[in-house]
Amino acid sequence: MEIAGPTELLAYRLVGRELTSTATLVEVRGRRVGDGFFGLIAGPCTVETREQTLETARAVAEAGATILRGGAFKPRTSPYAFQGLGLKGLEILAEAREETGLPIVTELLDPRDVEAVAEVADVIQIGARNMQNFNLLAEVGRLPKPVLLKRAPSATIEELLMAAEYVAKEGNARVMLCERGIKTFERATRYTLDLSAVPVLKRETHLPVIVDPSHAAGRSDLVLPLARAAVAAGADGVMIEVHPQPEDALCDGPQQIRIGDFARFADEVTKIVALMGKTVG
Ligand code: PEP
Ligand code: MN
Repeated sequence: MEIAGPTELLAYRLVGRELTSTATLVEVRGRRVGDGFFGLIAGPCTVETREQTLETARAVAEAGATILRGGAFKPRTSPYAFQGLGLKGLEILAEAREETGLPIVTELLDPRDVEAVAEVADVIQIGARNMQNFNLLAEVGRLPKPVLLKRAPSATIEELLMAAEYVAKEGNARVMLCERGIKTFERATRYTLDLSAVPVLKRETHLPVIVDPSHAAGRSDLVLPLARAAVAAGADGVMIEVHPQPEDALCDGPQQIRIGDFARFADEVTKIVALMGKTVG
């Protein structure tokens, strides 16, 4: 990346490669992401019910997912849309972990929920809408939990790196970056997956780079080809939305893969992971 000057050069000194050349390996409950290990993160967009979450968790665990995703606190564009089950959703996620053994990644929206979310989450997700919520970033920077930081749809790669620096600066160096699509003029997809961000980030930072093709595409039929491309571009993991009945989902139905289709998805992705010389963690 073109570096503007000495100030810019130091703008992400902790997450940049200048001072730390070795790749960061994030380990949670024995699952690994980064430094040759690939994270297969899957689960529902939103924790809707106990049954829907447990059914999905079982299916993705069976198919080889390494981390379970699911939102209890949901950032919705409309204030009238389902906002998530909140604390009840966290309880359901804890039960899903108990049953499957998979570590949980779930979103923290509000600093007031930090204790409740940190109690259950193995990895704290900071969503795209909060990428530059600097107080929230500092808050998770003080937690002893890895953070999955999503790129805002209108943020540059450099802004993403500086957002990660806010977390690292507080002492938490276990940050995973996530490309999830950016806003462009294109309307065939929900966002445009910025695949270039993967090799650029891999060059600029030692942190693991995850790709979320579900939110980028907004269409389940594009999730596998985009995931394959992400792995081939050098991603350290993918994050995928999966649902038992996507047509009935309370959030992001069109982009969620049906649970019965996830095993094939995982097999196809794993082939490219092996070609890239990596191991599903
Ligand atoms: C999510 O992954 O649950 C989510 C809300 O995605 P994003 O923040 O990328 O929109
Ligand atoms: Mn979603």
